[in-house]
Amino acid sequence: KEPTDINALADEYLRLAYHGLRAKDKSFNAELITDFDESIGKVNIVPQDMGRVILNLITNAFYAVNEKSKSDIEGYKPTVKITSKRTPLIGGVGGGSQSVQISISDNGNGIPKEIVEKIFQPFFTTKPTGQGTGLGLSMSYDIVTKGHGGELQVESKEGEGTTFIINLRIHD
Ligand code: ADP
Ligand code: MG
Repeated sequence: KEPTDINALADEYLRLAYHGLRAKDKSFNAELITDFDESIGKVNIVPQDMGRVILNLITNAFYAVNEKSKSDIEGYKPTVKITSKRTPLIGGVGGGSQSVQISISDNGNGIPKEIVEKIFQPFFTTKPTGQGTGLGLSMSYDIVTKGHGGELQVESKEGEGTTFIINLRIHD
């Protein structure tokens, strides 16, 4: 682990993923919104591993908004948003310990209730053959929890969109 500017990491991967998709598919478009808490400073993480987590969540978000775009809903504006903020860890070790929360949101089609329990399982995918391995979220879950002692949560509303939330302790 090394002290890493997680805002810069997230911003870099967001832009990389966006331009990568645009290069492959000229019709792909999405609004990118970032709202970073600049006071976070550096967080002790394995940058390559957390980068893979963030990239996977971003890739899933772009896929979701791209799918929804294809259904020609009037006035639909595909949007992917990343935010970071500090949150106090209530009763955490050391009492005053803080955590940082990174959230990746999209306004895609959301995840049906009966599917959401399965998304962290290895090889679970709803994507057509060749488009998804189903390994991104299970790998991400392991990196965040086992690799960093953090949490990875999902909030999703069918038809409205999805938010993934990464919680990490700032000092460990
Ligand atoms: P893959 O992307 O290869 O399918 P993942 O482990 O990254 O594998 O995701 C597993 C499944 O979770 C996806 O196939 C999809 O059904 C669902 N999913 C993940 N992220 C989103 C999202 N942002 N919006 C809607 N569904 C999602
Ligand atoms: Mg994926």
